[in-house]
Formats: sequence, C-alpha cells, structure tokens
Amino acid sequence: MSKSVTILGATGSIGTSALDLIERDPGGFTVSAVTAAGNVAALAAIARRTKARLAVIADDRLLPELTERLAGSDCSAAAGDQALSEAASGEADLVIAAIVGCAGLKPAMAAVEAGRTVALANKEALVTAGVLMTEAASRASATILPIDSEHNAIFQCISGARLEDISRIILTASGGPFRTASAAAIRSATPRQAVAHPNWSMGAKISVDSATMMNKGLELIEAHYLFGLPSERIDIVVHPQSVVHSLVEFIDGSVLAQLGAPDMRIPIAFALAWPKRMATPAERLDLAALARLDFEAPDSERFPALRLARSALEAGGAAPTVLNAANEVAVERFLAGAIGFPDIARIVEDSLGRDNSPAPQSIDDVIAIDQATRQRAAGLIEESCS
Ligand code: NDP
Repeated sequence: MSKSVTILGATGSIGTSALDLIERDPGGFTVSAVTAAGNVAALAAIARRTKARLAVIADDRLLPELTERLAGSDCSAAAGDQALSEAASGEADLVIAAIVGCAGLKPAMAAVEAGRTVALANKEALVTAGVLMTEAASRASATILPIDSEHNAIFQCISGARLEDISRIILTASGGPFRTASAAAIRSATPRQAVAHPNWSMGAKISVDSATMMNKGLELIEAHYLFGLPSERIDIVVHPQSVVHSLVEFIDGSVLAQLGAPDMRIPIAFALAWPKRMATPAERLDLAALARLDFEAPDSERFPALRLARSALEAGGAAPTVLNAANEVAVERFLAGAIGFPDIARIVEDSLGRDNSPAPQSIDDVIAIDQATRQRAAGLIEESCS
C-alpha cells in the first residue's frame, strides 16, 4: 500500500530531495499536501506534478496567483498561517517538516498534536519549543523521526537500546567552510564564502549556520530534546569528510556509528520508508578510496556559537528560544550585507545577556519570546550600524 506524504517547505532544499525520492517510487508514495512561503510558481508546479490534493502558500497575497496556476487541476489552493497548520495536521501517513526557521514551529506542532508521524528537518522548532513539542508528542502518541543527518544517525544507532545503556552521544561536525581559516580571515568572511559549504548543498540559512558552527549548537539542543540526554553527555567532534554522521557510546565502551555519503536523501529515505528501508540513488561509500577519516576537537574560540548554544541549553527556560531568534535575525542581516560575520555571534550573545523572559509554558509564549528577541536583536544591529 502506498504511503501518503505531506511536505511542509516543499520548494526548499530538503523538500526537493524528498520529492526526488518520492517521484522515483510512484507506487510507494502519494503526495497529500505541499507548502511554500512565497515561491508560488514552483509550488504550483510541484502540486500539479505530484497530484497533491492541497497546496498552501504562506504569503496570503499570493493566493489568487496560486489559485490561477492550479486551475483545472484537482488540487485546492489555500494561504496563510492557519492554512499551513491545517495542511500539517491533515490526513497523511507522514509529514515532512522542512520549513526553515521558527516559522516552521506552529505547523510542526500542529502535525505533532494531530498524532502524525513527523519527519523533522526543521531543527529550529525543537530548539525553540523542545519541552512543549516532546510533551505534545507523547500526549498525542506522535512519532518524531529526525531527518537532520546527525540525529538520524543517532536514531539508527540507538534503535532498540535502553536509555540507561547509553553513556554519551557524539555529534560530528564538518567544521564548515572556515574550519581551517584564521581568526582574521573569519572576521572578514563574506556571505558568498559563508554559504559555500565544502560537503553539503543546503539552503542559505543553514549554510551560514554551518559556517558559524551555530548549526552544531542548534543540533546539540535538538539532540538533548530528541534523545533525553543532558548537555554533559552530548559531545561534538569535528570530522571534515562528513562520512561518519554521528556516534553513540554505550556503557560497556562500545561505540556505534552510522556512515554514508554526504547526501541528505539517505536520512530522508530512512524517514520516508521507516520502519522499513528503501533504495536511494545516493553514492555508495568506497572506504579504500576514502583511505582516511579525520577527527579533531572543535574550537570555540574561533566559533563562539558553540559555547553560546551549550550555555543556552544548560540555562534552559527561554534561552534556547532567544538564541535561535537572535541567530535568525543576525543571519538574515549578514546575508543582506548589513553586518559582518563575527557580528552574528555577538548579536546572539548580547540578546541572551539582555533577556529575562520566564520559561515558555505554551507555543504562544514561545512565539512572544521569539518576536521580542527579534525586535531586540534588530535594535542591537541598528545601534551597531549607526
Ligand atoms: P530552504 O531555505 O532551502 O527551504 C525552506 C523552505 O521553507 C522553502 O520551501 C520555503 O518556501 C519555506 N519557508 C521559508 N520561510 C517560510 C515561512 N515563513 N513560512 C512558510 N514556509 C516558509 O531550507 P532547507 O531545505 O535547507 O532547510 C529546511 C530545514 O531543514 C531547516 O530547518 C534546516 O535547518 C533543516 N535542515 C536542512 C538540511 C539541508 O541539507 N538543507 C540538513 C538538515 C536540516 P519558499 O521556497 O517559498 O521560500
């Protein structure tokens, strides 16, 4: 029987990879709903091609254009935040949550609250609302399958294990495009240099996060919520080849790792086929040709985002939400050429230092903290530019 799949963020890098796999196996999958922010032409083309029943554009000014582009098809058009959440919670065997940033939180939460199986790429949702989302998942008996390659690797390695038998998890980090750059070169890094990731082809925001290593910081927090381990039992090691996607150490000293080519279609396929497996066109590993795998300790002097994320995780409460919101604003301003590369970590640090919000008790609290932090971060940026 075929599996019905909803793709939130269908026009993005993860959405495109998921569609690539789904369209290679027309008997295995049907597409239920697809969503995008503003890329209306691409969304309508995907909806027509996949025969989706619903297409939702976040920007409601684009609803007339979407409706027009879907005319004559069996696909309904909708727009706006409420429609996104309705698409997320609608009937589907699997919901792929691949919207970028905190914008993906409400739709991802709607899918979780509806008890869906959620393939989660949108790490910002778990970072900003980890407690609320994992509690909602257990209340609604929803399953969260991590798509992030590191967390997917850990998920695979701990399958069947008892939590008390795990001594630590080790997240691997490629080190990003500035792994070997001097502190001076990093200070003057441009957006074009920052998005040129050595191993992975990804959206702009996560590419900058990889360059600052905030991506690994967000993943540290994501791992805490997904696997229930405290900060001191989650380590980070730099592994430039991105072949070992992460490791788990057990109390007897055994270490299990998941390896594969750096191709997001592998973890996405894992989530699509779960609990089975499916074939992918991803390159196979040739270990003899690879010859070596390198590992090194991360450098939180050149990459202060690592230290900031760990302290936000340890502080708990509103801190991870503040960290994420300030980072989103700073990355956006960096990509627009308004601030320099080191300003990203500085804005995040200042935002964390100035916040005294209580721990969020609801998604509305999370959104309020997110909005207040965005305003404060924008003010900090304006101050530093004037
Ligand atoms: P992209 O920027 O390539 O795509 C983002 C998607 O989200 C697009 O479909 C975009 O629509 C949509 N979107 C953006 N803003 C909004 C909004 N405000 N409301 C509704 N939809 C919105 O991102 P990626 O695919 O790279 O990343 C998606 C998520 O997956 C991120 O959280 C990232 O951290 C995570 N991830 C990505 C990996 C990768 O390899 N790319 C690896 C691991 C995790 P539109 O096209 O219309 O703008």
